[in-house]
Amino acid sequence: MSVFDSAAFENHEGVHAIFDEKTGLKTIIAVHSTARGPAAGGCRMWPYASSEAALTDALKLSRAMSFKNAMADIPLGGGKAVIIGDARTDKTPALFEAFGRAVDGLGGQYWTAEDVGVSVADMAHARNQTRYVAGLEGHAAASGDPSPVTAEGVFRGVRLCVERAYGRDLKGVTVAIQGVGHVGAYLAEKLAAAGAELIITDVNEAALAQVAARTGATIVPPAAIFDVDADVFAPCALGGAVTAETLARLKGRVVAGGANNQLASPEVGRMLFERGMLYAPDYVINGGGIINVAAEIAAIEAGTAFDPAWVEAKLTTLAATLGEVLDRSLAEKRPTHEVADEMAKARIAGAAAARRAA
Ligand code: NAD
Repeated sequence: MSVFDSAAFENHEGVHAIFDEKTGLKTIIAVHSTARGPAAGGCRMWPYASSEAALTDALKLSRAMSFKNAMADIPLGGGKAVIIGDARTDKTPALFEAFGRAVDGLGGQYWTAEDVGVSVADMAHARNQTRYVAGLEGHAAASGDPSPVTAEGVFRGVRLCVERAYGRDLKGVTVAIQGVGHVGAYLAEKLAAAGAELIITDVNEAALAQVAARTGATIVPPAAIFDVDADVFAPCALGGAVTAETLARLKGRVVAGGANNQLASPEVGRMLFERGMLYAPDYVINGGGIINVAAEIAAIEAGTAFDPAWVEAKLTTLAATLGEVLDRSLAEKRPTHEVADEMAKARIAGAAAARRAA
């Protein structure tokens, strides 16, 4: 398969396949767009069955980062790196140093960070070879764990969707949270503090018990979360939670949570819309984490300290952007995910046109 013929190619600016003979590193760095700023997106390590599968994943993820960053209104484009390998057995410091050199070779076109299979410790090795690494601790620009900021953005998004769908605030509203890991646990605390009733599930019993003790949430088994009597379904675990089958079981009118890729397919988004439900597009509502990372990149570039006030201002803008998506969906009678995609594409195209004209 040629790169240009891949269905996932979608006008990428650059796709870099880099091999390091000494360490065996095989990485693909996909740069979808730098129109709004340097491409930013994490590095995933995964034992892909083929280099074609790795390429497809890199292309899809990097385009998704362009869309997320555009909707978060941050001065970053979209990119993503994948390392072909097993994170349990194939990691070495030298491998990540080689990855750092690969990133450095792009001269700042791409900023990397941790993603699935890659830890802060791994990225510290990459950082020895390049400055284009975000998400590390121990310096004035460091942004720390993005999860609380992601959860804050999701919390505000849930509140907005409840206002739109039910015309009320969160007090007494029942929210079903699927997954109480980093994002889901912070979200649960914020919702409980706002007076919401919680029903939670997870495959991790210890995490469930802790969150229930702190929030008074009711615990249900994973498969039951779609059947509970809740006003809001908040997916905060893995992708693909909303399928034709699970959608039919939901009782509430709002789907809004922190997970990436919540819709199993775009068709499910249309079905959701046709059932009169409100869906907060995942890459819009969960943009808080990348806003936090953007503040770190800006501070590294400027040689200044991390600025929480900038993050707060961007979170306010993010909620307004979500509101615009919901307004347009209502006015144009189109599903929210279609409206969001169109807005993201227009923002990227606008920045590209401005760059060409400059
Ligand atoms: P996490 O791994 O800390 O939490 C995920 C939780 O889901 C875990 O507790 C896990 O046990 C649980 N889980 C897994 N399978 C489940 C199932 N079948 N049913 C119920 N629970 C299940 O991850 P996280 O950082 O909290 O991220 C959660 C989601 O949000 C992911 O989709 C991630 O991509 C997305 N996201 C996270 C951030 C962030 O800042 N951490 C930012 C944007 C998007």
